[in-house]
Amino acid sequence: MRRPIVILFLMVFFSSFGQEQSIGVLRDHKVKRVTFSHHLGKYNVQADASIIGTLNSQQFIEVELVGGKLALKYNTIPQGKFSRITIVASGNGAIAIKSKSPIIRERQYQDHFEISVVNGRMSIVNKVSMENYLCGVIESEGGGGRHAEYYKVQAVMSRTYALRNKSRHRKEGFGLCEGVHCQAYHNMLKYTPEIRTAVRETKDDVLVNRKKRLVTTYFSANCGGEVCDASHVWNNSVPHVESFIDTFCIHTRQATWTKRIPQTQFRNFLVKQYGYPVYDSIMAEQMYSFDQENRKAFYIHPCLGIPLRDLRKEFKLKSTFFSAHPEGNQVVLEGRGFGHGVGLCQEGAMNMAKNKFTYRQIAEFYFSGVSVKKYSKL
Ligand SMILES: [Zn+2]
Ligand SMILES: [Zn+2]
Repeated sequence: MRRPIVILFLMVFFSSFGQEQSIGVLRDHKVKRVTFSHHLGKYNVQADASIIGTLNSQQFIEVELVGGKLALKYNTIPQGKFSRITIVASGNGAIAIKSKSPIIRERQYQDHFEISVVNGRMSIVNKVSMENYLCGVIESEGGGGRHAEYYKVQAVMSRTYALRNKSRHRKEGFGLCEGVHCQAYHNMLKYTPEIRTAVRETKDDVLVNRKKRLVTTYFSANCGGEVCDASHVWNNSVPHVESFIDTFCIHTRQATWTKRIPQTQFRNFLVKQYGYPVYDSIMAEQMYSFDQENRKAFYIHPCLGIPLRDLRKEFKLKSTFFSAHPEGNQVVLEGRGFGHGVGLCQEGAMNMAKNKFTYRQIAEFYFSGVSVKKYSKL
């Protein structure tokens, strides 16, 4: 049943949601047909200027991209084609989304949705409160069963990132994406009450520099015992992110790794990509021998121009922090850490939390010249 009534309250509702995040979801899947069904709370569905109906228990809508428009079915009954569909919660609510084409596992998201067509593709945007967004991000990044102070430091990092990058995808019609390009946000609504408590107890807390500007926050799973200089990863150095020895992560789960690669495969890559001088007998002998006591940016010697980050990508290594030696017809890489190693080291931070450091002390340990402040008082 469609009633052509222009209503303003939904727009007012959207705009009154302070610090609301606008997250592009299911971006990588070129979704053509998707259902939105009720999970929690009460919802209203609007299509262009028409009220379609409520979305309560057992109810659902299906949206299909047809000829650049959104064909809408409300509980299996066709409603017509539209440019924009909104699903607005009254109070706390959650929606289950299931893509039918392509088929993607169901996900649940809190708060509101806007569906439109951008550049010929269906655009699904989750309009979500900062608190609910951060709970989803921390669940995606850190998992369950962590220490409260760890969740708090992760909440400060992720809130700072979200505020600093809130317009990163503006041209695509939303603020942040749901992938690691921005911050992983694959909401399953499984997060523990401890995550929500940590987000609430750090409400409004952000990481700032001495000029009270938001800091660019980076984190990775395990730095391998030495936080990496950002210039090794991205060619540019990043303020407040410096290389230093981190003893908090060296006996943890992802502290070390080993990878064996056939020498022919390794050699071919170095010769083809970088013209490794195999004609020089000394250099040929050294090809599989490399010591990395402290973090370096290049394999063997900088003058060869072989960035370790390239080797990491080519051979899918856990980190760039490895040494190498030949063994039979293989080269054995013995590495430390997992991830790019820049900024906050998550396993180190978890260990600090267990050892009674506060979230402020942990944040200030991994970033230099920063402090935790209330965003609304900057
Ligand atoms: Zn992004
Ligand atoms: Zn570390």
